[in-house]
Amino acid sequence: MEQQAPKRLEELRKLLEEYGHHYYVLDNPVVSDAEYDALMQELIQLEEQYPQFFSEDSPSVRVGGEPLPFFEKVEHRSPMLSLGNAFSDVDLRDFDRRVRQLVGDNVTYTCELKIDGLAVSLVYEKGKFKRGATRGDGTVGEDITANLKTIPAIPLRLKEQVNIEVRGEAFMPKGSFEALNVAKEKVGEEKFANPRNAAAGSLRQLDPKLAAKRNLSIFIYAIGYLEEKEVPSHHEGIHYLKELGFRVNKESRHCSSIEEVIAYTEEWVQKRGELPYEIDGIVIKVDRLDQQKEMGFTAKSPRWAIAFKFPAEEVVTTLEDIELNI
Ligand code: NAD
Repeated sequence: MEQQAPKRLEELRKLLEEYGHHYYVLDNPVVSDAEYDALMQELIQLEEQYPQFFSEDSPSVRVGGEPLPFFEKVEHRSPMLSLGNAFSDVDLRDFDRRVRQLVGDNVTYTCELKIDGLAVSLVYEKGKFKRGATRGDGTVGEDITANLKTIPAIPLRLKEQVNIEVRGEAFMPKGSFEALNVAKEKVGEEKFANPRNAAAGSLRQLDPKLAAKRNLSIFIYAIGYLEEKEVPSHHEGIHYLKELGFRVNKESRHCSSIEEVIAYTEEWVQKRGELPYEIDGIVIKVDRLDQQKEMGFTAKSPRWAIAFKFPAEEVVTTLEDIELNI
């Protein structure tokens, strides 16, 4: 087995790099998220099993896409990271165990919907919107300020004159996505594969007038930095963001145990289809910021948060879809 490991590792890294490039850089995925996630899990497991074959530039330690060549580059003040994944209750209980080992039993969690869009950073100086950027490779993103200014849910002025950076997910609501694809079909243009690609495609093109027509929206889910003020917990931070004038997601829940967290994930596995926007999971965060600080980060993601990924939706095949091989 050990003899075969380097070959398989090489294969997996190549495949994931290729798929990642299509997904993050070209906004044009060639495999499903579930397929990508399964290969990534295999890679992570093999790397854990055979640490002697670890490689610094493995897709398992990279965050995302490289910036495209034509936007100004922006260095993030603190990196925009990825999230570790959980696929089951067992994974969630393991996460809870790791958390309590590090910071003790006095822990609560905030659960949030994982919006399937594009992560962006918004910088405000004295309460005025100055600059917006994509996540890029996590360290350097693209300056897409002009496009972001066209999103009505992004306030250009805040209720207080604070210096703050916030992070959120820009997305295209399902209704806008469907209307856009109908319009594209009418003029014979290629349709977008899903709302995420449509949102990313709209924000990463150079004409803000086009972005303005795309009916994008945003949910803000984190504070990157905040000068001269402290908030003690994630859920109070979100409350403060709302007071400043940001759009935050109303479905978030502050949970006092991992069992409550699991109940929340089960609820949304059932209800996700009812939302007017797409979600691909639930993000679970240790609520107290002093505990987040204590836990810190790995090279790729915070130790105090995890993304629960929904099981792949069942594909219903109808008779018309089946090509009969007679
Ligand atoms: P991630 O799964 O590591 O999660 C981090 C991202 O979640 C953040 O950057 C942010 O954009 C988003 N997010 C949404 N709501 C959030 C919230 N409330 N709090 C914090 N973050 C929130 O994201 P990633 O690294 O962009 O993507 C990895 C995933 O992308 C893979 O697991 C896979 O499913 C998919 N992917 C698919 C392909 C493909 O070819 N189909 C290729 C690469 C990646």
